[in-house]
Amino acid sequence: MALGAVGWLSAGVAYGLATNGKQFLNNPVAFSYGYGFAGLDYGLSSVANPFAGAPMPTIDRVPGGAIIRNSFYANNLMSKKYYAQTHGYTVSFRTGEDTYAHILHERRHIIQNRTREGFYNGYGGGIFRYFGGGKEIEADLSAGYFGYQQTGAFILFLYYNKYISDDLYRNIRLWTLLNN
Ligand SMILES: [Zn+2]
Repeated sequence: MALGAVGWLSAGVAYGLATNGKQFLNNPVAFSYGYGFAGLDYGLSSVANPFAGAPMPTIDRVPGGAIIRNSFYANNLMSKKYYAQTHGYTVSFRTGEDTYAHILHERRHIIQNRTREGFYNGYGGGIFRYFGGGKEIEADLSAGYFGYQQTGAFILFLYYNKYISDDLYRNIRLWTLLNN
């Protein structure tokens, strides 16, 4: 690792400042944590992926943040339950899991982290702030794809209590199938 861990960490934060600098003052902790993590992950992935038989990592800007594909962290160190993980403003994706729906889901987490004050990972917005799993339900709804059981339960709750119409319920089912 030619740069060394501190070098990759700094490179990640420098990348963040160059590509998304306006967000630094909004939440400096989430900013430094996310882009620092991304730098380390990208550096580790660049060195270790060839040995792990995975494609080389890429880093791309998305509105408000950045995503790393073929993340060594996501492929090998993250819980097998997940396809990606968002840290502050950056997302690390497991190889082959970067579907549109998954990207939209994680982008909602970037927005959640941006609106949080003080810490590095955020809450859901609006009503989604106030119950357990709310941020995942909000992210699933943003993506039109239900990766979490509680999102399906939430929609059924709304439907059975007649907060949403039969038509909307059917449309939601349809969107979800489309994005599966
Ligand atoms: Zn999520």
